[in-house]
Amino acid sequence: MKTLNSYISDTVRTLKPSGIRKFFDLVAKMDGVISLGVGEPDFVTPWNVREASILSLEQGYTAYTANAGIVELRTEISRYLQKRFHLQYDFESEILVTVGASQALDIAFRAILNQGDEVLIIEPCFVSYGSLVTLAGGKPISVSTSGDEEFKINPYSLKKYITSKTKAMILCTPSNPTGTVLSKRDLEEIAKIAKEHDLIVIVDEIYAELTYDEPFTSFPSLPDMKERTILISGFSKAFAMTGWRLGYIAAECDLLQAMLKVHQYSVMCAPTMAQYAAVEALTNGMEEVEFMRKSYKRRRNYFVKSLNEIGLHCHMPGGAFYAFPSIQNTGMSSEEFAERLLVEQKVAVVPGNAFGESGEGYIRCSYASSMEQLQEAIKRINHFVQSLS
Ligand code: PMP
Repeated sequence: MKTLNSYISDTVRTLKPSGIRKFFDLVAKMDGVISLGVGEPDFVTPWNVREASILSLEQGYTAYTANAGIVELRTEISRYLQKRFHLQYDFESEILVTVGASQALDIAFRAILNQGDEVLIIEPCFVSYGSLVTLAGGKPISVSTSGDEEFKINPYSLKKYITSKTKAMILCTPSNPTGTVLSKRDLEEIAKIAKEHDLIVIVDEIYAELTYDEPFTSFPSLPDMKERTILISGFSKAFAMTGWRLGYIAAECDLLQAMLKVHQYSVMCAPTMAQYAAVEALTNGMEEVEFMRKSYKRRRNYFVKSLNEIGLHCHMPGGAFYAFPSIQNTGMSSEEFAERLLVEQKVAVVPGNAFGESGEGYIRCSYASSMEQLQEAIKRINHFVQSLS
């Protein structure tokens, strides 16, 4: 028999394992670590949301749902998008409930890409984008951004990456890992380019509720953008529901129906009890979201100020729950810094290069931790930085 490895497809064999996972395997073996590594809320899902799910089980709602999701949830998502972001999506044909934003991204790429189609990926970015494009047969094209510009896309340099094969670009605002929020003006510049070059824009707005300084502009709310946008979002972050695995896509009918086709063959539908929980989250959960948002804002203000005070320069991230400080003045690579910080001071952060080459020289710290943990983490990071001089 051939080696089992030789049965694995070329695409999967050559896929790089996530740079984040590698790190967490290391953390799992250690005691007393303060983890600023994982990108998830430290809050438990609010009780009324959990209760709605329990009630759905008590009522015996344990079967498959419609492929696109239960009507109540699609109706609430449509209302929510209208109310919060001035978007018009028809619940019957333009909204699809998915297994997290992760699956939403997967089916978006699979529905639109032909072999060799290029997708512009603005880096540093969420670790899945490039691999999902590759798995869908597309070619990820890294577009780097610079810390000097707070990791905002420069429209002029973006244009340089566009070829006759470019079909789409993916944006994430607020961004994981940088926390950068694109302003309405930034988005308008991108919209102009998308129109000029006839590109589909996949926009990952999973952190849209978590902005702290400026009102948030949703990309498809810009003139003429709905028709070329695939909007990805979900419940994991703002509603503290990572384990429920629930997200959604909103897009014009033709695109959405194509994604629904992939979805119905690959997962059939999102988990039923999670869908009932999400209806409750949208109808009675916004006060909790606001409570959590304010709490992240307080932690952000403390944490980012403290990083700057101890000599790790960090721009003030406008959203999400990540700080992305520069560690360039230490002379170390991101991986070396993160590894030594973990071993010497037991603080876990993620090396910036896990999010693309332009993340080199930075580390990602999630501040979705208690204030006490953040204070202790700052103390330890400070000791570590001091020990280097
Ligand atoms: N997009 C971004 C930018 C994320 O940070 C994450 C989670 N880390 C996801 C998508 C996936 O979220 P979900 O839990 O909904 O699959």
